[in-house]
Amino acid sequence: MLRTHTCGELRIEQVNQTVTLCGWVQKVRDTGGLMWIDLRDRYGITQLSFEENSSEASVLETARSLGREFVVKATGTVVERFSKNDKIPTGQIEIKVTDLEVLNPSEIPPFIIEDNTDGGEDLRMKYRYLDLRRNEVREKLQLRSRMAIAIRNYLAEQEFIEVETPVLIKSTPEGARDFVVPSRMNPGEFYALPQSPQTFKQLLMVSGFDRYFQIVKCFRDEDLRADRQPEFTQIDCEMSFVNQDDVLGNFEGMTRHLFEKIKGVSFEGDFPRMDYAEAMRRYGSDKPDIRFGMEFVELNEVAQNKGFNVFDQAELVLGICAKGCAEYTRKQLDALTNFVKRPQVGAKGMVYVKCNPDGSFKSSVDKFYSQEDLKAWAEKAGAEAGDLLLVLSGNTDTTRKQMNELRLHMGTELGLRDKDVFKPLWVVDFPLLEWDEETERYHAMHHPFTSPKQEDMVKLDTAPGEVRANAYDLVINGVEIGGGSIRIHDKGIQKLMFKHLGFTDEEAKAQFGFLMDAFEYGAPPHGGIAFGFDRLCALFGGSDSIRDYIAFPKNTSGRDVMIDSPAAVDSKQLDELGMSLKA
Ligand code: ASP
Repeated sequence: MLRTHTCGELRIEQVNQTVTLCGWVQKVRDTGGLMWIDLRDRYGITQLSFEENSSEASVLETARSLGREFVVKATGTVVERFSKNDKIPTGQIEIKVTDLEVLNPSEIPPFIIEDNTDGGEDLRMKYRYLDLRRNEVREKLQLRSRMAIAIRNYLAEQEFIEVETPVLIKSTPEGARDFVVPSRMNPGEFYALPQSPQTFKQLLMVSGFDRYFQIVKCFRDEDLRADRQPEFTQIDCEMSFVNQDDVLGNFEGMTRHLFEKIKGVSFEGDFPRMDYAEAMRRYGSDKPDIRFGMEFVELNEVAQNKGFNVFDQAELVLGICAKGCAEYTRKQLDALTNFVKRPQVGAKGMVYVKCNPDGSFKSSVDKFYSQEDLKAWAEKAGAEAGDLLLVLSGNTDTTRKQMNELRLHMGTELGLRDKDVFKPLWVVDFPLLEWDEETERYHAMHHPFTSPKQEDMVKLDTAPGEVRANAYDLVINGVEIGGGSIRIHDKGIQKLMFKHLGFTDEEAKAQFGFLMDAFEYGAPPHGGIAFGFDRLCALFGGSDSIRDYIAFPKNTSGRDVMIDSPAAVDSKQLDELGMSLKA
């Protein structure tokens, strides 16, 4: 090694030792007579010192030539500092430098490489390799690394085998759009990048691997949001000879292990389970944040038939109770109304009822409802004096979705979504199929390989929308962390499923012939799950954005602004592929 120690290592115990450090120049302070340099590496910062009278002239000259982010090697003696810095672990000492070598100079960096940087997002992404020098960013990737190692260790101990699956595969209708890659050797044909290794892990079960996992890149060509990236990482797992409880139990174990190992958080009792229908009824979401209550209350019975047209015509009148918010001002209530009217939420309006401390009620619909009426609402909603009821109405599904947004907004506004509190929840019994308005047919809610519940099979022909699946999600703090299902392992049922998804026999054979064939050769009952690893890291790190936990992320237009990708390819490459671009 070029160094004897790292920049985070030396303490008072090492005083008088001769050491050599290597690192980047963080800061230079020169008073003329005395000079200090903060030297940084990934382990910390150590102060180097120079003295006009005692340092060698050549050393001083080199020191004075240094700029920010120069890479240097410094040799000297560890001495006790005159003025100590309690904020850093090396703050008791400094190095009296006797030898200084510039290993590489640096241009002035485009932003300050410190916790409080002056660099905006775009600039930091363009120079991501410099951004990664910052503590805050590096620590996130270190957390990610520790988590990946803990997961590998846990699963290996449970006899899971890590198997890599191909990245150049075939386009399959898994839900999102595929990224496609032209094949030079097979002109006119394309590979697709996997949206997940789903069919491969199922084939591995047919092969008898029994317990598989992989920390693997998946690719989906979707419009991006803060928590989406075109390429992202899954902890992908599959098991044979299991039922739903086995899978949930095993991965609850993995989740607990991770929380204990990485965050020192342990959970009492089993993770709660809630079926999809109940989650929608109580929270209007298949990923409810159960860190706080504010559950939905259906008010049809007490709010309808009193002459208020909007409610009378609504399929659902839905309320939530915001504890202690009766004092909300006109301005605050207007802001809430504006919130629900935003296009992203889409409500036409909002009704409020203030449960005043004196026992009276004040609402935005006082014209239609007596004090007695409003009291009945409050009782139904469990609202007490001092609370505020917020009410939306309309068609059931839409109103629930809108109320979900309002509930989460209120939860945030009232500080009920504490980043340091973790509330896991298994959501189970998802519908098998989902009606798609655009294509006017059913789609698999999870994916086409998910098994229907045995007892619901009879409804496949008559009421397909009511068939429930052996599918489950792990939700933590309102974030979908993982999802999976018990799979179909019977060729006949798989065929039936494809039929219900609108595939002809020929289409099913062309797309998934390999899987159907495999099911002819002794496919074991199997099921699995995949965790969104980037999201899990963000959750552990207390952040909403997965990009912070990805070393080289893409921006919201799917661009890597550092390497400038995607980019045009030259015409020779296109020729080799037998391709030309439409003008
Ligand atoms: N492959 C599925 C997904 O990516 C997860 C699973 O069913 O195991 O959502």
